[in-house]
Amino acid sequence: MATPVAIEHLNQEPEWPDRALDLAALRASGWRPAPFRQFLFKVHSRCNLSCDYCYVYEMADQSWRAKPVTMPADVVSRAAARIAEHVARHDLDEVRVILHGGEPLMAGPGFFTLLAAELRNAIPPDCTLELGLQTNAVLLDEQFLRVLLANRIRVGVSLDGGREANDRHRSYANGRGSFDLVAAALRRLRTPPFDRLYTGILCTIDLASDPVATYEALLEFAPPSMDFLLPHGNWSNPPPRRAAASAKTPYADWLMAIFDRWYASPRKEAGIRFFEEIINLVLGGPSQVESIGLTPVTLVVIEADGTLEQVDSLKAAFAGAPATGLNVFDHSFDDALELPAIAARQLGIDGLCATCQRCEVRDICGAGLYPHRYREGNGFLNPSVYCPDLLRLIRHIRDRVQRDLTDLVTS
Ligand code: SF4
Repeated sequence: MATPVAIEHLNQEPEWPDRALDLAALRASGWRPAPFRQFLFKVHSRCNLSCDYCYVYEMADQSWRAKPVTMPADVVSRAAARIAEHVARHDLDEVRVILHGGEPLMAGPGFFTLLAAELRNAIPPDCTLELGLQTNAVLLDEQFLRVLLANRIRVGVSLDGGREANDRHRSYANGRGSFDLVAAALRRLRTPPFDRLYTGILCTIDLASDPVATYEALLEFAPPSMDFLLPHGNWSNPPPRRAAASAKTPYADWLMAIFDRWYASPRKEAGIRFFEEIINLVLGGPSQVESIGLTPVTLVVIEADGTLEQVDSLKAAFAGAPATGLNVFDHSFDDALELPAIAARQLGIDGLCATCQRCEVRDICGAGLYPHRYREGNGFLNPSVYCPDLLRLIRHIRDRVQRDLTDLVTS
């Protein structure tokens, strides 16, 4: 069957959205941006690991070199005040702050106490603040966990499978693997009273690893949830073993092996966010993540120096790709909502290229993760570079769910 990747996206000019999206016309048509609800703080701009696929240090954008090492106290308090301003202006009842890096734990335990206090003092009590961090966990000792518990900061850990799979990529600069330290941290995290902080594990896909063995290795740590991330890449810099124009589906094949193992399990072993989101979309619900579906993206990044950026993984596209030219000292989050690059990820179907608009799985796929659509010369108005994989995986899950629903109804 022909893949829906057509050639019409190949020679479009000018680059979309920055030089081609007409925000004034959009507003005149009645469109309004959705307020931000997720704020990703880059609290530390260095890392203690040297993962070879890292989009912060190993890819096109090297802006981390000019950033402060740890987010200064005045940036924290100004960012907290800006969030409070946004909450009040849009009458938000819930916001999420995600602490990220580099490696966020390198900011030290005291930093998290200060940051949590700043945020909780600034944000009105009738707005729920959910605080979480994503860490490589090598510094996650008991002392750190006690500080995170006291400040109600939930913890997600990055791990790519068992020792061999993980240490192939997630190692120190001297080549020493990180698995043993991360495994010890995960054992602490899953033990009461710290287990209430445990949100799950993020695993970046490596086709060289066996998919089911990877899934089962992660299950050893009893994560409430796990997610499998497609490695970053785009049409100009394709991901590993994903030739841009190829109809092969190595990533779908890898994920389908896990889906079949997970879906057929007699009991739910763990949530797998990517699969659960696709099932939810198949059943007509909205998506909660930016990697799939058409729900407007409402996440903004606050860098360690207070500059505002778009989604962090755009760093994999080209130098300066996530930049907005705005900062928390001089600009509100509403100012960021006026940027074409932010609006482009909130347009739903209207933000898709013609190929995706005609696709049979359009409302489920939504062209995948925004950075994966980039092509030098025409920007982001393209299908995902993972298009054949997304199409195959979504069809596989959709058909399986529909078959089960039919069986249920007829029985
Ligand atoms: S919606 Fe997804 S599967 Fe369909 S053409 Fe676009 S990227 Fe490909």
